[in-house]
Amino acid sequence: MLNAKRIFLLGATGSIGENTLKVIRNYPEDFELVGVSADQNTEKLASICKEFGVKTAAITNLKSFNEIKGQSVFPAETKLLGGHSGLEELILSEKADMAVVAISGACALAPTLSAIGQGMDIALANKEALVLGGSFILEAAQENNIQLLPIDSEHNAIFQCLQGYRKEDLKSIILTASGGACREVPLKDLKKFTPNEATQHPNWKMGKKITVDSSTMANKGLELIEAKWLFDLSIDQLKVVIHPQSIVHSFVEWVDGSILAQLSPPSMTFPIQHCLHYPNKKPAIQPSLDFKKSLNLEFYPPDLDRYPCLALAYEALKMSPYGGAIYNAANEVAVERFLNGSIAFTDIPRLIENALLNITTDNQFSLETLISLDQETRTKTNEYNIG
Ligand code: NDP
Ligand code: MG
Repeated sequence: MLNAKRIFLLGATGSIGENTLKVIRNYPEDFELVGVSADQNTEKLASICKEFGVKTAAITNLKSFNEIKGQSVFPAETKLLGGHSGLEELILSEKADMAVVAISGACALAPTLSAIGQGMDIALANKEALVLGGSFILEAAQENNIQLLPIDSEHNAIFQCLQGYRKEDLKSIILTASGGACREVPLKDLKKFTPNEATQHPNWKMGKKITVDSSTMANKGLELIEAKWLFDLSIDQLKVVIHPQSIVHSFVEWVDGSILAQLSPPSMTFPIQHCLHYPNKKPAIQPSLDFKKSLNLEFYPPDLDRYPCLALAYEALKMSPYGGAIYNAANEVAVERFLNGSIAFTDIPRLIENALLNITTDNQFSLETLISLDQETRTKTNEYNIG
């Protein structure tokens, strides 16, 4: 393990966490897992620590931490830390080369900034942190001279397609979108679309929140804002196309009319492996596309009546630098309210629109202002009676 990359996996128990572990499991000589975190799933985290001999683990949910503290759930050699301060301590206390940020939600912003501050390269799956505090993440990455590698499949595709070209020759990027679970549902039936239906993705196996975001296409809205920060783009350079097969992960269009794409099967192990081994390449841990079999790929423009969350993301982009924070916080709360049955599927865009129309600030632009806008949006969106 002398030359192994030392890895932190933040959000190890989730869907991206699981896929990251698959890559690490396949290349034990290349990677050493030195720190992991989860929020509540202590049992799964303990079994990860046992399998990979992890030295330090953080459990951010204090109730879950207190429940298992002092019991022999975790291996004796794993140091256990509790709460968000425990996660911070983990990042500050262990030395690692790369942090894989696979935590869901905007709460990933603080640990991402801490890991950058420690000089670690970042493989970033989480998009909410970038949508909230993109300018601060990019600034910190530059200051600390670290590599920021996007795991999100569309951004990973764009990152790969941009290699070796001049940025000034870029015309636009075109994010592909599957259209999610409600792609074929008649518009009149969307009001009755249930949490169970909205969490069934046709192509990808992912966490609940992002699967609902795919159904509303708020996920693509977040990804537009994510792309703006990652690749320093203007609104007119940011486009979306529906591609039901999820094989082409995005396009890059150059001024000379040439369009490049990155293709692979719809599995997150491909972009994760790209980031973990970057800048090298190693054999894939699962089969890629097989052109001996016929492959039909379709592309068509998104219907904004079906996907109002996508149109609202363009409005949020116009409201930069605050629109992203408001859009993201309102969406996170709206999805929670939808999943707990208190609002309808079609109320999700209504709550986001309400927040974008009514929440604003005159304060000077700073991380503190963004975080207080995030909090204000959450409180108001939770309280808003949709009627
Ligand atoms: P999951 O819900 O499957 O996993 C989330 C992980 O974060 C779990 O380890 C969870 O712990 C932990 N977590 C949850 N809440 C908190 C919190 N408040 N503080 C700290 N940790 C927390 O999500 P996904 O793996 O699907 O997604 C992770 C991120 O990656 C999201 O931002 C998503 O948008 C992005 N992404 C995901 C893709 C996918 O294919 N899944 C594709 C592209 C991007 P516990 O299990 O204990 O609750
Ligand atoms: Mg994506």
